[in-house]
Amino acid sequence: MKNIEKIANLLKEANEKKVIVQDVEVFGYQFNYNVKVLGSVSKYWFGKHEVIEYIAPLNSESNNDNRPGTKKTSTQYVVVHDTASAAETANSLAHAKYVSNGGGGTSWHYSSGSDGIYHQIPDDEVAYHAGDALVVPFSLTNTGIKGKITNPKVEIKNGYYYINDEKSLIKSPKITFMLGEDKNLHYASDGFIQSRKAPEGAKEGEEFLGDNSRRINEQGIRIDLGEDGYYYMGPTYYNAGFGYISNRGGNLNSIGIETMVNKGSDLYLTWQKTAKLVAHLLKDNNLNLDRVKQHHFFSGKDCPETMRHAKLWDNFIELVKFEYEILLLSDGVEIEFISNSNLIDKTGRVITLPSSDTVIDYSVVIKDINTKEEIKVDLKTVVEGE
Ligand SMILES: [Zn+2]
Repeated sequence: MKNIEKIANLLKEANEKKVIVQDVEVFGYQFNYNVKVLGSVSKYWFGKHEVIEYIAPLNSESNNDNRPGTKKTSTQYVVVHDTASAAETANSLAHAKYVSNGGGGTSWHYSSGSDGIYHQIPDDEVAYHAGDALVVPFSLTNTGIKGKITNPKVEIKNGYYYINDEKSLIKSPKITFMLGEDKNLHYASDGFIQSRKAPEGAKEGEEFLGDNSRRINEQGIRIDLGEDGYYYMGPTYYNAGFGYISNRGGNLNSIGIETMVNKGSDLYLTWQKTAKLVAHLLKDNNLNLDRVKQHHFFSGKDCPETMRHAKLWDNFIELVKFEYEILLLSDGVEIEFISNSNLIDKTGRVITLPSSDTVIDYSVVIKDINTKEEIKVDLKTVVEGE
């Protein structure tokens, strides 16, 4: 099958039978607010991917300490956050400026919002956004368990990881208390001290066996099925701040994206633009769709909070999936969106809700620039009335 035919099929699949219209609560550290999110006729965004280069100065060229210029050993993940900053002024540009001005010691690679995408840290450099410290670089360890399915069940029992009910060779993180430079006792995971202080009465070296200590984060543990049939596991640790067993490889081995949730911004457009950005990053770094992770995966933090609470993460991953699959077929291809509906903009986004349920007709022309061959697909979707 030709690429333009494959793209046509993907766009038929990406067509929304019914446009998403959802009341969403946005979580901000200043305040929360509610907004009605209007979706699109398609899970593919027909807008143009644009990134504004806004690279932060190296620590050696500034008084900042958020861009050491350390090259990553590998890029394993694309990490999605939201800023949890609801103020109207908290847009992409403001966050890009923040990182360039030192970011209070934090940094991330991209700020993505409906006002644009800013690129602050080169993709091949380490940044400080995932909350999993800088002590354990990513690696994969043979679990000693063989299997066939790609997403096995992972549990912790008696200090070991179990995979599909079989005891693996890998111990679960050992949580102890260690004396910090501040002379206070802190939590530590496998000997790596954390900022959270130990509870009253804790003793140095004592093992922590609290109720939460065996709780695996909601996105699970990185497990690869090797070509030799064994399962391989990425490094894990216990994050005492959030009380979850989490994955390493956030700060040291990922590309971090902060998505905007500022009041007055267009949340769904932010997610569409971000999905397209993620697709490009996956392609550029030879990563599969399952390497797109929430910040939560690396620390247990409730981030990206608004998307998680709105139960729209799976929808976001669907957006990424179509962007990614179409991107891989799009060299030398033009995709043109056509519609006469006044309910949507030129990218297929619903901008006005009708008073009663309305069918929106649209067409997409997919053209091979070299052969001049083209396919026109006619599609329709329903938007429910207010
Ligand atoms: Zn985050």
